[in-house]
Amino acid sequence: MRNEKIDIQAAVPLLSAMRCSKADTDGNFAFARRLRAAIWVYDIDNSRIVYANVSACDLWQAPDEVSLLQRDLAKDMSSTVASRLRQYQSDFVARDAMFNEMWTLYPKGKPTSVMVFFSGFRLADGRMAMLCEAVGNAEDEPENLRSAEALLHTDVMITLYEKNGPPLYMNPAARNAAADAQQSIAEKFTHPFDYKKMIEALEASGEHRMVSSVSTSTGQRWYDLSAKMCSDAVTGKPAILVTAVDVSELKIARDKARYLADRDLLTGCYNRSYLHQHMSRLEQCKSERGALLCFDVDHFKQINDRFGHEMGDVVLKDIAVRARSSIRENDKLVRLGGDEFVIIFDDTPPETEFAPIVERLLEHISQPIIHDSTRTCITVSIGVATFSPKAADFTAIMREADIALYASKQAGRNQVTFFSEEMGVAALARQNIETEIKIAVEQRNFVLHFQPRVDLQTGKVVSAEALVRWQHPERGMIMPDEFIPICEETGMIEDLGQMVLALGCEQAIAWQQEGLDIQLSLNISPRQFDDQRLMKSLQAFSKDMNFPHGKIELEITENVLIGDLGHIETKLEAISQMGYRIAIDDFGTGYSNLSYISEFPLNCLKIDQSFISQLPKSGPIISLILTLAKQIGATVVAEGVETGDQLAWLSRQNCEQVQGYHLSRPVPIDQFRMVMNQLNSVTYPSSKN
Ligand code: C2E
Ligand code: MG
Ligand code: MG
Repeated sequence: MRNEKIDIQAAVPLLSAMRCSKADTDGNFAFARRLRAAIWVYDIDNSRIVYANVSACDLWQAPDEVSLLQRDLAKDMSSTVASRLRQYQSDFVARDAMFNEMWTLYPKGKPTSVMVFFSGFRLADGRMAMLCEAVGNAEDEPENLRSAEALLHTDVMITLYEKNGPPLYMNPAARNAAADAQQSIAEKFTHPFDYKKMIEALEASGEHRMVSSVSTSTGQRWYDLSAKMCSDAVTGKPAILVTAVDVSELKIARDKARYLADRDLLTGCYNRSYLHQHMSRLEQCKSERGALLCFDVDHFKQINDRFGHEMGDVVLKDIAVRARSSIRENDKLVRLGGDEFVIIFDDTPPETEFAPIVERLLEHISQPIIHDSTRTCITVSIGVATFSPKAADFTAIMREADIALYASKQAGRNQVTFFSEEMGVAALARQNIETEIKIAVEQRNFVLHFQPRVDLQTGKVVSAEALVRWQHPERGMIMPDEFIPICEETGMIEDLGQMVLALGCEQAIAWQQEGLDIQLSLNISPRQFDDQRLMKSLQAFSKDMNFPHGKIELEITENVLIGDLGHIETKLEAISQMGYRIAIDDFGTGYSNLSYISEFPLNCLKIDQSFISQLPKSGPIISLILTLAKQIGATVVAEGVETGDQLAWLSRQNCEQVQGYHLSRPVPIDQFRMVMNQLNSVTYPSSKN
C-alpha cells in the first residue's frame, strides 16, 4: 500500500476473534506452511492477520506467527486504504473476484513492495476475509512491478471487459467510479445507441474512441472512452479493454459555449450562425426534401415606436414561443435578427401536414399579446422555398424564401407565398433596377422639376413643388413612382433625399436672389424623416446667410405622424424654429391621429388628389378638411386639379391654393419662369382680381 503505512507494531490482541479464525485457517492451510511463497489471510472487518505461513512472517518481519496475529493493522491505516479493502470485500462477495496488485507494506517502518494476488476467503463464522499470496517483489521484476504500480495509482480508469459480459479487471480508479462491480460495458452506456456504435466500430476496425454519457457511482457523467478489442490474458477469450477519462466538466463548458454561440440570447431561438452551419451540412448531404420558411412581423417598427422597445422584445419572445409550439420537434426555429425568423424543415412534411403547420403558426401568432396593461395584435408575412435539385445551395434557397416573403408583403402582408420561378424572374429585374438606382444616386443623375401652386384669391403662383426625376442614360426621364418606393425600402432614399434637399435649397436661394418671391416645397419621405442627417442638413442650410426664411416648405406624409408623438412634435418644433414651413402631403389617406394634429406646428394641408378626382362625390370630405385646416390655422392646397369644374368647385368652397395638370404639369427649371408668367396672367373663376 504505497505511502499508506500498515504499521506492524503489535497492538492489543483480539484473542477470541483471532482464535476462532485461526483454528479454522490452520486446518485449511496446513500444507501452506511448507510453501516458499508468503501466504496470509487478512480479516478485513477486524484489521488483523488471522493466518500467516513462515514466509509471510518473514515478509512482515515478525518473529513468529503469534506475534504477527496480534498486530492491529488498523492503527496506522489511512481511510483510503481501509475503504479500498472494504470494496475488495464486497467484490469478493459479489463476484468471487480475484486480482493482483502491487502493494507496499511497511513492516517495522521499512517500505517493501510486493506483487500480491488477492482472492476471497470465507472464515468459519461466514464473514468474507482476504487470502493474500505474495507472487513477486520489486527486486525480481522491476519493470512489471512499476507498470503494475502505475496502473494502480493512475486516475485514468482502465477496465477489461469480457466481450458481452462483466468486467474481468478494473483498476482502482475504474472500480471507484463504477456504478457497480458487475456492470457490463453495455450497461455502462446511458444511451444504447452509443454502445451499438462502439461495438460496430470495434468489429470493423478493432478500436474506437468516443465521448459518451455513462452511468457511474456518482450518477450520469461524460467519459472520453478508448476501446480496443483484445484477448483475456488468463482465459484467451475475446475481451474489450476500455480506458476512460472523465471529461464532464469540459463537456459541460463546451456545450454551454456552443449553446451560446448557436443561440439568440433574447428569444433562445437558433441564430444566423447556426442557420449557416446547418444549411451547409444539408448542402453537403445534398438534401432535396427540405423547406425554408421565412417570416417577419408586419409593421414591427410601429410596435417599437408606439409601445417602446421593451414591448418590442416581449413581442419577439412571444413569437418565438408561439412559433415553436406550432412546429414539429425536429423543425428548427432561427431568429435572423430584428423581427426576421426562419424555420428549417430538414425533411419537408407532406403537403397534408405542411399546410396545418403554417395555419397553426398564423393562428398562434394572431392571438393578442398582452404585457402589463398593453394589448396588441400582430400579423406576419411568410415566404416558403422548398429545396430542389436546381436550388440545392443555401444562398439560393435563402434568396428564394426571401423573394416569396417579399411577394407576401407586396400582396398586402399577413399571408403565405410559396416561391415560384416567375417570382425569381421578377426579383432579378428588381435587383437590376436597384443596382441601377444605386449607381444613379452615386453619379447624381437626378434633376428637379417644378410644379406651380396658385393662390385662388390673388390668382398668382405663390409656390412650386420640387419633384425629382431620374435621368436614365437609355430610358430617358423616369418618374419617381418607379424608384422612390425602392429607395425607401432599401434605404437609398437617405442619400437621394440629401441630394434633393441640397438642390431644392440652392434653388430657393437662387429665386430669392433673383427677386422671385415664391415658396418652394420639398418632399421628405418617412425614412428620410428618421435619418439622423436630416436635422443636421436642415440646420446647416438654415444658417446660410442667404437662407430664405419661411420660403422652404417640407412635405411629410401622415404616416410620419405615427409612433412616439412627443418625439415627433419636438422634431417638428425644431424644424419650424429653424425657419422651415411644414405641410402634410396626401392628407386624408393616412392614419394620423386627428386629435393630435392641432398639437403639431403645421402650416399647410395638401388634400390628396384622390379626393379631387372624385368630386363632387367627395365634396363633404373636402369641406371637412377645409374646416379642419381653418381651425388649426393651416393653408389648404388641393392637389391634382385636372379640370375647370374641379377648380370652380374648389373656388366656391374657398379653397386657398390649387396645384394640378389643369394649371401646369411639373416642368424643368428653364421652363418654370415662362409657365409662371402665363399662369399669373390668367384670371381664375373666383379670383377677386
Ligand atoms: P406628391 O408629393 O403627392 O406629388 C404630386 C404628384 O402628383 C406628382 O407626381 C405630380 O406630378 C402629380 N400630379 C400633379 N398634378 C397632377 C394632376 O393633376 N393629376 C395627376 N394625375 N397627377 C398630378 P410625381 O412627380 O410622379 O411624384 C409622385 C410622388 O413621388 C410624389 O407625390 C412624392 O410622393 C414622390 N416624390 C416626388 N419627388 C420626390 C422627392 O424629391 N422626394 C421624395 N421623398 N418623394 C418624392
Ligand atoms: Mg408632395
Ligand atoms: Mg401629394
